[in-house]
Amino acid sequence: KAKRKAIIAGNWKMNKTASEAAVLVDELVPAVQDAGCEVVICTPYTDLVTAVEKTKGTNIHVGAENVHFEKSGAFTGEISADMLVDLGVEYVIVGHSERRQYFAETDQTVNKRALAALNAGLKVIICVGESLQQREEGVTEELVRMQTKIALRDVTAEQMANVVIAYEPIWAIGTGKTATADQAEEVCGQIRKVIGEVYGEAVAEATTVQYGGSMNAKNCEELLSKKDVDGGLIGGASLKAPDFAVIVNAAT
Ligand code: PEP
Repeated sequence: KAKRKAIIAGNWKMNKTASEAAVLVDELVPAVQDAGCEVVICTPYTDLVTAVEKTKGTNIHVGAENVHFEKSGAFTGEISADMLVDLGVEYVIVGHSERRQYFAETDQTVNKRALAALNAGLKVIICVGESLQQREEGVTEELVRMQTKIALRDVTAEQMANVVIAYEPIWAIGTGKTATADQAEEVCGQIRKVIGEVYGEAVAEATTVQYGGSMNAKNCEELLSKKDVDGGLIGGASLKAPDFAVIVNAAT
C-alpha cells in the first residue's frame, strides 16, 4: 500500500437529531480510538456543535455534509464555510450525488463550493461517480474525469493537500450493491491519473482517493486492500458504531 493516509469518513446524511448524535458519538469514541487511519464523521448541521464538543481530545474529526459558496448575505437557509470553521468543523463533503440529484447541484457549483471551503481552510471531500446508465453506456471514465477536472478548477497544488476525492458510483449508494474491489480500484486509479495530469505525479500520489457505495463491515477489507483505494465514504454503516469501527479498523 502507498504512504498515503487512509481516511474513513462517515456520511450521516439526514439522520440523527442532536440528542441522538450525542449518543452515537459517545459510542464511536472508544470504538475507533485505536484507528490507524484518519477518522471523520460528517453530520447534519444541527449535530455539528454536539459532535465537535464530544470529540474534543479524541481522534475523530468532524465534517459537514455541504457548504454554500458565498461568504455571507441574502442566501436564506444556507451555511457558509466561515460558519463551519468557527464551530471547529474541519471537513466538508461537496458534490454528493444526492445533492446533485435532488438539489440540482452541478459540476460548476461543486467547484464553487470546493473553492469556498478550501479558501476558508476546510478540508473537502469531493464526490464523483457515474449512474448505472452511464456505466452501461461505457462513459464512466470520461464522466469521472470531467467531474474531477471541473470540481478542481482553480484549486492550487498547495490546496490539494486538503482535498480528498470520493469515488461513489451512484448505483452503489444505499443500494447494498457494492462495486467490486476491481471496479473501485480501476476508477480510483483513473481519478489519480487525472490529478497527475493536472498537478503532477507527486500531488497525485499524495492525494487520498476514497471509495463509497454500500461499503460495510463485511466487504470493507477487500475494497480497502486495493492500492488506489485510500479509505471510504460510508453512509448507512456509519450510523452503527460497531460496524463503523470494523471499517475504521480495516483501514491503515
Ligand atoms: C454515501 O452516501 O456516501 C454512501 C456511500 O452511502 P452508503 O454507504 O449507504 O451506500
